Amino acid sequence: MLIGGRWIEKEETINVYDPQDNTIFSTVPKATKEDMLHAIEAAEEGAKIAAQMPVHERLSILNKAADYVLEHSELYAETIASEGSKTITEARAEVSRCVDTLRISAEEARRINGETIPFDQMPGHENRVGYYYKFPIGIIAAITPFNDPLNLVAHKIGPAVASGNAIIVKPATLTPISAILLAEAFDAAGLPEKVLSVITGSGSEIGDILISHPSIRMVSFTGGLETGEQIAKKAGLKKLSMELGSNSPVIVLDDANIEDTVSSCVSGAFWAVGQNCLGVQRIFVTESNFDEFVQKFITKTNTYKVGDKKDEATNMGPLISEKEAIRVEEWVNEALDEGATLLTGGKRDGAFYSPTVLTNVSTDAKIAKEEIFGPVVLLFQVKDLDEAIEKANDVNYGLQAGIFTKDIKLAFEAIKRLEVGGLMINDSSDYRIDGMPFGGVKGSGLGREGVKYTIQEMTEPKVIQFKL
Ligand code: NAD
Repeated sequence: MLIGGRWIEKEETINVYDPQDNTIFSTVPKATKEDMLHAIEAAEEGAKIAAQMPVHERLSILNKAADYVLEHSELYAETIASEGSKTITEARAEVSRCVDTLRISAEEARRINGETIPFDQMPGHENRVGYYYKFPIGIIAAITPFNDPLNLVAHKIGPAVASGNAIIVKPATLTPISAILLAEAFDAAGLPEKVLSVITGSGSEIGDILISHPSIRMVSFTGGLETGEQIAKKAGLKKLSMELGSNSPVIVLDDANIEDTVSSCVSGAFWAVGQNCLGVQRIFVTESNFDEFVQKFITKTNTYKVGDKKDEATNMGPLISEKEAIRVEEWVNEALDEGATLLTGGKRDGAFYSPTVLTNVSTDAKIAKEEIFGPVVLLFQVKDLDEAIEKANDVNYGLQAGIFTKDIKLAFEAIKRLEVGGLMINDSSDYRIDGMPFGGVKGSGLGREGVKYTIQEMTEPKVIQFKL
């Protein structure tokens, strides 16, 4: 792990497993509370160094880090596909997005602007002029999940470096190696010591010190709702960015092109084994299309090849652990016991779980209300858009949604009424580029990530006023 610019090994280590066969892929040091305090101490100096770094240096470092990742892209992809769930094809796509995230961060570093303030809006203030600058907030604590182990870390380090902050990253315990490799890229790019630490260990053991320490000015968390709520309670008076989960809905109306819709929805449901915060979980299809949609959906799902992550022909690898696959199996079995119909899938082999399609699920069932975070999708027949919107909104999540229709009026109706942070028209909920404001409402989070928007969260305005 990297603490304040120094690479540290420890006697006590944590094994990192390849979930496919449970072999040990690597080991990382198990950080102690003292290590965390040491990282915070280093970051206190790092924050001063980062804030002094001229913009041209920040963007040069970010571009060099992007070049490094690009040059070693196959190593990064192999790492993601070894410690995580993704196939090598999905892993390569993540590496390419990481390069993009770092390049956008370099570009956005040039555009951290304030604006002038018209003080003369107040009678008696005609002789005042001024503006505000954007200043870095200091030290950012970043806590990241297992499912995008590289790019979601880049979404925290890139904007932090661009905006002149120090940052301490606590990557997911199951997939820390990708984050360590990203730290290597910043080290090679010449990021000054103490600006970045990547510290490995159990979130519940070392997380509290990081979250609650008064020197930390912002906690940027990506992960599950439950963990997010615990962190928010402990953080105290700090900025919070919470990128949490969802059970994203997609609405398919009478006039949708069924071929295109099925193809986007199947990909959106099973990308990264359904372990995707914006993955498609609930699909609401109007009556006239329902039977055709179901048939085509099953046919397409059954073409999915589940198996070896490193085989380029594989569409879906294992879940992150056998424990998670067992949980998914239990949720599906519970839904079946309650009267759901299994259209395809429902089979587990170790950490592998086949792509699964259910119908006749009650909208009150756990599997419809909570985030399944596995390769399971629920198909609901609805009368019209009104019913679809009502059911889509009837959960405590709201990250992204999709709607398929050619009717612009109905699309605008959905834009107005769906309770989400993003709506994709004629695409599934599973759409994101790294430069858009990404985030959710309700239990899906607070704040927006997507480089420019993350920089807004990581900076604070300082008002300057001249009395003439
Ligand atoms: P998780 O909440 O279990 O863990 C996330 C991180 O929090 C890990 O690094 C973990 O070690 C750490 N952690 C756990 N307990 C902690 C504690 N008490 N204090 C401090 N840190 C602690 O999530 P996960 O299983 O790794 O990831 C899956 C979740 O992440 C899903 O809900 C998914 O939807 C969500 N997610 C959201 C986005 C988004 O951008 N909105 C993106 C990816 C994943």
